Amino acid sequence: MTGPKKLFIKTYGCQMNVYDSERMAEALGGQGYVETKSADDADMILLNTCHIREKAAEKVYSELGRFRGLKDENPDLKIGVAGCVAQAEGEEIMRRQPLVDLVVGPQSYHRLPDMEAKTRAGEKALDTDFPEEDKFEKLKSRPKAARGPTAFLTVQEGCDKFCAFCVVPYTRGAEVSRPADRILTEARDLVERGVREITLLGQNVNAYHGVGPDGDLTLAQLIWELDKIDGLARIRFTTSHPNDMADDLIEAHGTCSKLMPYLHLPVQSGSDHILKRMNRSHTADSYLRLIERIRKARPDILLSGDFIVGFPEESDADFQATLDLVEEVGYGQAYSFKYSTRPGTPAAERPQVDEDVKSERLQRLQTLITRQQRDVQDSMVGKDVSVLFEKPGRREGQMGGKSEYLHAVHVANANVKVGEIRKVRITDSGTNSLGGVLV
Ligand code: SAM
Ligand code: SF4
Repeated sequence: MTGPKKLFIKTYGCQMNVYDSERMAEALGGQGYVETKSADDADMILLNTCHIREKAAEKVYSELGRFRGLKDENPDLKIGVAGCVAQAEGEEIMRRQPLVDLVVGPQSYHRLPDMEAKTRAGEKALDTDFPEEDKFEKLKSRPKAARGPTAFLTVQEGCDKFCAFCVVPYTRGAEVSRPADRILTEARDLVERGVREITLLGQNVNAYHGVGPDGDLTLAQLIWELDKIDGLARIRFTTSHPNDMADDLIEAHGTCSKLMPYLHLPVQSGSDHILKRMNRSHTADSYLRLIERIRKARPDILLSGDFIVGFPEESDADFQATLDLVEEVGYGQAYSFKYSTRPGTPAAERPQVDEDVKSERLQRLQTLITRQQRDVQDSMVGKDVSVLFEKPGRREGQMGGKSEYLHAVHVANANVKVGEIRKVRITDSGTNSLGGVLV
C-alpha cells in the first residue's frame, strides 16, 4: 500500500516566505502531498529561498548538492527551488545543478500543481513569470484544519522604491496589493480555525492600497475592517517604509485597541548623504520627526528597525550619524547588516568600503543596539503586560507566549490554554525572554 506523498519544504528568509511556504504546501496538498519534517523520507524537496543575504545563490547551490545522495537512493524524488533565488537565477539553476526538477518564482507558485505533474512525467518545469492573474485567488482556499493562535497573512507584495542596495524590486516585482475582500475572507477563516493574532505582511506593507467596496483602502482602513472580526484579538503589520507612514495609520496606533504597540520601521542609515545615495527618499530628520508623531499617538510603542553599515561612500562621520540616530530613537529591537553587493543593483557597481571597516562598524552598532534592547526589556520588570499564550515552555507546567510588545514571556505553573490572552506581571528579564506571573 502506498501512503500519501511526502513534501519537505525548507524556508529561508522573511515571514513572507514562511507564509508562501504554507500556501505552497496547501497547493501541493491537492496533489496528495503531506508535509514531512525530514528531507530523508521526502518525495519532493522544495527550497523556498531568499536573496537578501550575501552569497544567497551560492548557499542554495551548496545545499542542493547535499541532496545528491537522496536522489541516488530514490530516483523518483523531485527537487524544486522556489522564492527569490529561483526568480533571480531562473534556468541557470537547472544548468548548474541538474538534480533540480522544478524552479518556481514567488509570483508563480499557484502553478505548482501543474508543474509537479510535469516533473512526474519526467520533464523539467520552470516558471519565473510575473503573471497577470492573482496567485492567491488561484490557490485553493486554506483547508479548515485547526491551527495555532498566530498567523501571517500577505496583503501586499513587491516594491517600486528601488533602494540602491536592494534586490526586492527585481525578484518580487512591482508593488501589488491584494483586494480587501479576499484578505478579510482569509482572515475570518483563520479566526474560525483558532487564530487570535494576524500579522499582515508586505515588502512595503504600509503602501497597501487594495481594492475595497468603495475605492481603494489604505492599510489603516484595512486594519479597521479587520478590527470588526469577532475573535480576532491582535493585529500587527510588517515591514514598513518611513515615507508610507500615512496620518491615518499613525492615528490608528493610538485608537485601534487591536493594533499592537510595536512598529518595525527601517531607516537604514542616520546620514543624509548616505540615505540619498541609497535612494531612500527620506532624511534622518524627517524619520525622527515621524517617530515623534508615532510616539505622540502611542507613547509606549516599541520601535524596531533595520540598519546597513559600510554602504559605499560611508565615512566615519556618516557612521557616527547612524549611531547618533540610534541613540536618539532608542530601539526595543533592531537588525543590522554589513552592506554586501547584490548583482544588478546600482550600489554594487560603486567603490566599496573596506571589509574590516564594515566589521568594526557593525560591531559598534550592534553593541549599542543590544544595550538598548536590554534596557527596554529590563524596563518591563514590574509592569503588567498582556500575553497571548502560544505553546508550553521547556519546563514542566511552564507556558510561553508574546506580549503586546512582541517580547517572549514565560510563566511557570500557568494554568492557561494555548490561545488564551492573560495579564501577566513581569518579574524578571532573562537573556531573550521575560518571566512573569498571572495577575
Ligand atoms: N522593505 C523594507 C524596507 O524598506 O526597509 C525591508 C526589506 S529587506 C527584505 C530587509 C532588510 O535587509 C533591509 O531593511 C536592509 O536593511 C537589509 N538589506 C537589503 N539589502 C541589503 C544589502 N544589499 N546588504 C545588506 N543588507 C541589506
Ligand atoms: Fe528593498 Fe524595502 Fe527599499 Fe523596497 S523599500 S527597495 S523592499 S529596502
